[in-house]
Amino acid sequence: MTENNITETLRNLAFELDADFISITDKSCFEDSDYTGNKPQDVMDNLQSVIILGVSLPRGAFETLPKGRGEYTNTLMAATTTLRVIAFKLAKLIEKEGYMATIAPSEGSEYGYWYADRETLKADLSFKYAAYRAGVGNFGMNHLLITKDFGPKVRMAAILTDAPLDTEEKAELPFINDACSECMKCIEVCPVDALTSEGVIHKEKCAEYMFNVLGGLRCGLCIKVCPLNNF
Ligand code: SF4
Ligand code: SF4
Repeated sequence: MTENNITETLRNLAFELDADFISITDKSCFEDSDYTGNKPQDVMDNLQSVIILGVSLPRGAFETLPKGRGEYTNTLMAATTTLRVIAFKLAKLIEKEGYMATIAPSEGSEYGYWYADRETLKADLSFKYAAYRAGVGNFGMNHLLITKDFGPKVRMAAILTDAPLDTEEKAELPFINDACSECMKCIEVCPVDALTSEGVIHKEKCAEYMFNVLGGLRCGLCIKVCPLNNF
C-alpha cells in the first residue's frame, strides 16, 4: 500500500472499531518553539508520524460527580481500554506494511499523571498538543483539549510510528478557546486551586489531590462544568 492508502485504511479501521476521532501529525510539530513537552523522537529515533485516537465519554459519568467518582474513574478506564484495543490493532496493521509502531503510555486520568514522570508530571509527549496541531480542537483554561465535536469530555491514545503517513493541515484555531475569557467556571470549581486565570496549572496540586486525597480516584470537575461539552 502507498502511504496515502495506509492512512485511509487506518482511519477506516479506527472508526469501525468505535473511535470518535483520529488525527495524524508529523514529527516536526514537536520541534516548534511553542511546544514545551517531551519529544516522542526521544522514544523512537526514526519517528515520522504520531497518530492520535480519541473517544468521547458518556454524560452520566460527569453528571453524577462528585458522588459518582468511582463510576467516573471506571468510565475513564473503560475509555482507555477501548482506545488501547483500537491502537493495538492499528499498530499491527502498520507493521504488516513493513513499518514500526508502538503505543505511548496513557491511562484514565485528566492529565496523565499516573504514567508521567513523577517529578515533572509530564508524559512522553503531549497528546493534546499533537491533536491541537492536527485541528481536533484547542486548549481551555482547564489545560485540556477542547475538541470541536465533543468539548473536553474525551480520552485519547497515541501511536508512534516510523511510517510517513498523510498528516492534517496545521490548526488555524487560536491556542486558547475564545469562550474561556467569558467563563472561567473550571477555575472556580477546582477544589485545590490548581487552575488560575493567568493560564497557569499547578499540576502538583491536582495530582496530590487525586493521588492522596481521593485515594487514586479521578476528579473530573473541571470537565464537568465546561459549557463546551456536547451534553
Ligand atoms: S469551563 Fe469555561 S474557562 Fe474552563 S475550559 Fe471550559 S469554557 Fe474554558
Ligand atoms: S483538581 Fe480536579 S478540578 Fe482541579 S485541575 Fe485537577 S481535575 Fe481539574
